[in-house]
Amino acid sequence: FIMIYNFSAGPACLPDSVLKSASEAAVNYRNNGISLLEMSHRSIHVVELFNETTQNLRSLLKVPNNYKIIWLQGGASSQFSMVPLNLLPNNGHADYIETGSWSSKAIKECNKIGRANVIASSKESNFTFIPKNYVYNEGSKYLHITSNNTIYGTQFKEYPEGLDSDSFLVADMSSDILSKPIDINKFGLIYAGAQKNMGPAGVTLVIIRSDLLQQKYRVLPTMSDYSVHVDKKSMFNTPPVFSVYVVNETLKWLMNLGGVEAISDINIKKAESLFNAIDNSSIFESPVNYEDRSLMNVPFTFTNNDKDDKEFLEFCDKRGLKTLKGHRSVGGFRASIYNAMPQAGVTALIDAMKEFEKTY
Ligand SMILES: *Cc1c(COP(=O)(O)O)cnc(C)c1O
Repeated sequence: FIMIYNFSAGPACLPDSVLKSASEAAVNYRNNGISLLEMSHRSIHVVELFNETTQNLRSLLKVPNNYKIIWLQGGASSQFSMVPLNLLPNNGHADYIETGSWSSKAIKECNKIGRANVIASSKESNFTFIPKNYVYNEGSKYLHITSNNTIYGTQFKEYPEGLDSDSFLVADMSSDILSKPIDINKFGLIYAGAQKNMGPAGVTLVIIRSDLLQQKYRVLPTMSDYSVHVDKKSMFNTPPVFSVYVVNETLKWLMNLGGVEAISDINIKKAESLFNAIDNSSIFESPVNYEDRSLMNVPFTFTNNDKDDKEFLEFCDKRGLKTLKGHRSVGGFRASIYNAMPQAGVTALIDAMKEFEKTY
């Protein structure tokens, strides 16, 4: 018998207790005698579930009352265009910091609607760092960042400051939402696909400051209009009820653990133990700029590229350590160590790294 640890970048591991609740709800939801998968979103049970999930998210992230919380479909990728569609006037422009493939995709979509000014980019160095010197453009509607770069393993440790008073920060937090406390007041809009750190695929969280809902820059397709989803409490059309349920179970798990403050401490310790193992190893190294290292996604490679990645992947696989293959644009290995990955999983990986090094 060996423990299995799944280091997948997304869809990613979920707490065991959440998987158990999900399997129960699939058969018989809260003792109602029917499966949640068969339940109408107009039923009292599902309406209550949505209210509860929104309330739990609001309390975990201390979302102020002047922000709305909605649960959408279409993934974070849909937000790449929904953000400019809703927030950018015709002929308007916004600033973007390019820190990886997801930022690049957000920039591409913005350019179909208005103009994205790329005010800083680490593309030239294969996104190994977070740019820190940039100048905002006069009249830019907002500044868009990707708070954690899932593929390249970099993370904003401090958020950009000093925006014009009528400009605001927009963040794609898909891969580090709920990993630490954040000051929501710094942001106009935050979005996050659930399947990295919050639940299963199929649902995307959007937190939006209420005053931004008043702007009507263009005639929008109904499904792309934030104010419709706010007015309809995320039930304009059939929502992904089961995914929202699994998110809520994950939020409850996090609350029981002590919330984002508690998980933040755990995440720091977990990541540091892995960074230390990489830094002290003679065969592995980190491709990422030291101070920008993500606490969520940890890429590492062989120092010496005559070694075969497959050998280490197979070595890990036999020990129950799964999905460690690096993204093709970085190579090597990537350990995604989101909230639900316990220290025991990271320790098992560190042991495997040490053991493998000995055999070399
Ligand atoms: C995974 C990911 C996305 C894309 O999410 P989808 O739900 O597949 O559209 C966007 N941004 C970041 C930071 C991600 O990690």
